[in-house]
Amino acid sequence: MTIQLGCIADDFTGATDLANNLVRAGMRVVQAIGVPSDAAPIDADAIVVALKSRTTPPEVAVAQSLAACRYLKSSGAAQIYFKVCSTFDSTPRGNIGPVLEALMDELGCRFTIATPAFPDNGRTVFKGHLFVGDVLVSESGMRHHPLTPMTDANLVRVLQAQLATTAPAGASPRRVGLVEHRATGASAEAIGKRFADLQAEGIAIAIADAVDNADLLRLGAAVKDLPLVCAGSGLAIGLPANFGIAPSDRAASLPAVRGFCAIVSGSCSEATNAQVEHFRKAGGAAHRIDPTELAEAQDGKLVDAVAHWAASEWSAAPERPVLVYSTAPPTAVAAAQAGAGAHETGARLEALLGRIAVVLVAHGARRLVVAGGETSGACVQALGIRRLRIGTQIDPGVPWCHAQISNAGDGMHLALKSGNFGGVDFFNRTFRVAT
Ligand code: ADP
Repeated sequence: MTIQLGCIADDFTGATDLANNLVRAGMRVVQAIGVPSDAAPIDADAIVVALKSRTTPPEVAVAQSLAACRYLKSSGAAQIYFKVCSTFDSTPRGNIGPVLEALMDELGCRFTIATPAFPDNGRTVFKGHLFVGDVLVSESGMRHHPLTPMTDANLVRVLQAQLATTAPAGASPRRVGLVEHRATGASAEAIGKRFADLQAEGIAIAIADAVDNADLLRLGAAVKDLPLVCAGSGLAIGLPANFGIAPSDRAASLPAVRGFCAIVSGSCSEATNAQVEHFRKAGGAAHRIDPTELAEAQDGKLVDAVAHWAASEWSAAPERPVLVYSTAPPTAVAAAQAGAGAHETGARLEALLGRIAVVLVAHGARRLVVAGGETSGACVQALGIRRLRIGTQIDPGVPWCHAQISNAGDGMHLALKSGNFGGVDFFNRTFRVAT
């Protein structure tokens, strides 16, 4: 079985989100963390390479993306999917424009589309303008994003501005156009005709309108023969059918594992605070880590104490999950940051929670939930995980995954939850979801 679709995601949780949508549409998907360094074949319909290239300097993002593209092509991918944020997070320097152009050059692609539309999450594109819920992205909270403020909702203009910055001196940049809803709302044939007209006008990249899943399905069918597409995770619902793949439970099946259940939570988001509270109130076994109580030098002792505590909980009740959390409300976070600073406190806790994940697995945890985007990255890295096979969705955007790890023959199951995802009973319900 060869790889059909090769995906390059510009951040980790975005990669999981895309992989999750592809699995739900019937593809068997493996998510690679970074570009795999070995050429060992992967048994899947799609590979999603997760990069951390959204906010790096553009030349770094381009180099990483090209390496991912070459790996995916050598793995047999017939089409490349450049996954960007559904709020089109970028700045006038990029990185969407420069990466997309580099991929077009690499693949000899003369025309492609870009659409961040993800109607299930309230992201829609109409007349080239991106909406978040009922407001333009430029009127949403995204206009204040610390790294990628989105102050213009007109994506044709936004992308064109990014292309202008990379065009060689004297050369005119590639031109950006629009596939209006008149076409995406009609049929794949109408969209194909619009592609041809735009190309005849000299357009190289078209923003595509999409306001609902039916639009994305038509668009998915229309991009069948393009070597490259650029989209949020929404377009993924329309692509597997192009490869003759239909939704099936088989796509989400994971190798079985046996072992204890654990949760490591470093997210301080409102949703995660509520989930921790709910778990504790329901009588769950929980161990709190308070960074203000211990000097960093004592972190080693703390890791041992947590391992001891978890082992005794499991020996009393082997089926019960244990929760280790530094999750705290804003006032406690501010108090912790007041001493060492926000960055240092965060980095220390990420490292500490990563070590805790490692000892919990060493003591027999084989089903692990991690709450927090950065915390997930730290735990996955500490566990030495390079690949995840994507399984059943627990809550929107959060699937169970399977990973091989050293010292655990059958591997383990992981669910990596970005802060604001998941219902309030997420930690209680997660382990009951069949994998
Ligand atoms: P989210 O997905 O909610 O943004 P992240 O894991 O990405 O969660 O980010 C949470 C950050 O807060 C991490 O750097 C983590 O180490 C840090 N953190 C966790 N607990 C505390 C705490 N009690 N005080 C201060 N910072 C904390």
